[in-house]
Amino acid sequence: MRTRNGKSTGFLISALALAALAAFLWIFSAAKGREYRAEAAVTAVPTSTVHAINLVSAAAALSAPETHFPPGTQAPDAEERLTAGPTALTAAETPVQPNATPAPTAVYLASGSAGEGVRTLQQRLKDLGFLEGEADGQFGRATKAAVVLFQKQHGLDADGIVGEKTWRTLFGDSAHTVVVTPTPAAFHGVAESVPVLVNKQHPVGSDFEPEHLVYIADVIPPDVAVLADKKAQGVSEAVYALKTMLEAAIADGVGHWKIREAYRTYDAQKRIFNNYVSKYMEDGRSRSSAISATRLTVADPGTSEHHTGLAFDLNASNTSDAFVDTAQYVWLVKNCWEYGFVIRYTDEKEDVTGFLGEEWHYRYVGVEHARRMHEKGMCLEEYLEWLGAAE
Ligand SMILES: [Zn+2]
Repeated sequence: MRTRNGKSTGFLISALALAALAAFLWIFSAAKGREYRAEAAVTAVPTSTVHAINLVSAAAALSAPETHFPPGTQAPDAEERLTAGPTALTAAETPVQPNATPAPTAVYLASGSAGEGVRTLQQRLKDLGFLEGEADGQFGRATKAAVVLFQKQHGLDADGIVGEKTWRTLFGDSAHTVVVTPTPAAFHGVAESVPVLVNKQHPVGSDFEPEHLVYIADVIPPDVAVLADKKAQGVSEAVYALKTMLEAAIADGVGHWKIREAYRTYDAQKRIFNNYVSKYMEDGRSRSSAISATRLTVADPGTSEHHTGLAFDLNASNTSDAFVDTAQYVWLVKNCWEYGFVIRYTDEKEDVTGFLGEEWHYRYVGVEHARRMHEKGMCLEEYLEWLGAAE
């Protein structure tokens, strides 16, 4: 705890007295019913109370993990940060709680906000499983998406803005951990169900394992496709669809397929992610900068589509050209949707998916969904939103 020479005792006493006063006001106001306005309580106390609250903030800040990102290192969020919310609070004005009880004071945090208040918010969202990554104190796109998800799952207006109601719900008794949607049960009959969404905002749990995994080698013979990993697995329905698709390509004269990546466990994804971070750090980046750079091309553990067993990275085995320049890619662009696959990440949709284009990454969603996504030119995030609105 930060105290000043010779003043600590007096300070503690006045802080205690003020805390008692604040508690009294809280109870008193709460007793008056639901119309209780938190701002009133704060404006009614002497200004030195604010100092006492700030001491709590300082304590919380000291105990918070050091996860500062240098400005501009998180490319996807950079734009939003430039437009600070008009009434965004500074760190000193924002209540920070070391535990899950919010201070009774006004809160307004939105895209562009920054500081300890945002860090507290992020830490709480992380504790509840709504936010992945580090609490960097910057209210960017990922934080907003986490707030929206929290609001949706708690019956609040899903506007992505943290006002008093959202703040109090976050730290109140009704706050619950994230409900991962859709649940793994939805994997049954992939083609008929709504395609599962796994991305930065919709992680699957670290212990999630898809059902109906098969060894690809048991389904797809080497004359159809070679496997980078002989033990590669995928969800049965998707693997059989992949086989049908590749056989159709071969019938069209486009062969020499290689399956480079398929199902990945949480631990495998973690290894890949950490390897990239290490490589970037070897190139002289700071750890936070390396993590940001990695996130542009590698999903955090639990947020990779490969974890679903429905995604496959395809390559041409007869050339070292970039896949985008191969006949195999040209064939897939034209035909993959007819077999239930979509090119999951394109440069065009980077803003929506959060990933740079990956022309080699094919995701099985079932023929009907793939056909509609193809017709409408929608990526999975857009399609699911459209599907939800259409129902
Ligand atoms: Zn992939």
